[in-house]
Amino acid sequence: MTVGHKRSAIVTGSSRGIGEAIVRRLAKEGYHVCINDVAANKEGVDKLAAELNKEHGDGKAIGVVADVTKSAEVEALIKESVEKLGPLTVMVANAGIAQVQSALEISDEDVQKMFNVNIVGVWNCYTRAAKQMIAQGPVAEGTTGYKLLGCASIVAFKPFPLLSHYSASKWAVRGMTQVFAMEMAKHKIQVNAYAPGIVGTAMWELIDEKLGEIEGRPRGETVKKYSSELTAMGRVSTPDDVARVVGGFLCGSDSDFVTGQTIVVDGGIIFT
Ligand code: NAD
Repeated sequence: MTVGHKRSAIVTGSSRGIGEAIVRRLAKEGYHVCINDVAANKEGVDKLAAELNKEHGDGKAIGVVADVTKSAEVEALIKESVEKLGPLTVMVANAGIAQVQSALEISDEDVQKMFNVNIVGVWNCYTRAAKQMIAQGPVAEGTTGYKLLGCASIVAFKPFPLLSHYSASKWAVRGMTQVFAMEMAKHKIQVNAYAPGIVGTAMWELIDEKLGEIEGRPRGETVKKYSSELTAMGRVSTPDDVARVVGGFLCGSDSDFVTGQTIVVDGGIIFT
């Protein structure tokens, strides 16, 4: 059996922020999309699914609550997506958390939590989605292959102080992406990651608040300072800046000969 032209994508952590922008872009590209987040964000998941079904036609989007740190929940997420949307062609392991703290003040529990979401979460998504794709059989001749995508960060290339366990976790995503690219190529599965810089989402609100506290700046000033001083293009990134590269390029056929890469989308903060 071969998988034909109908494409479906799961995007984890997509009730808001970068994940939401990726889901919106993929729906526009004609994908059937599975929105995912943790139970605390179920309302956002359901709202986005309803909105996309209204905009693109009933049955185009579903919302599934699952915690990516739990492999059984990732398996159930994939099962539901395949049952309702058809064969899985794209998995975007986008969910992640951040914490700003001096390395010596980070608790064991915080380290474990960071690695669980940002590393084990991506691992669960890559392994379970790859198994599903292999079981589905090869994609039809002339169609875009299967794609696994992981969310890294600029800190996967250049770590920043006060982001030690976060930087380590994103560096791990970059390494994992390279080895999966090598192992999965024979199954016609490409594996890439994306590395955003300073994106205006809930995550950066948190970083802004904590860094501002430590470095003595009022709320909103840290994100302004870093985006204008560190970014060649002189502004904060929008989730759409990232979604265009992920949903447009990395999930699409223009990237069919790209694998094992971590593509930086940061407006010019780091240069690889
Ligand atoms: P966000 O906090 O707005 O979105 C992250 C989403 O992931 C949230 O909805 C959250 O509930 C979800 N999530 C967290 N743990 C989960 C779990 N265990 N299972 C399922 N979902 C879970 O942040 P964002 O900025 O949109 O971040 C998206 C990704 O981009 C993250 O991996 C983040 O590390 C990465 N990133 C963000 C920036 C930035 O500047 N905002 C920069 C580089 C990388």
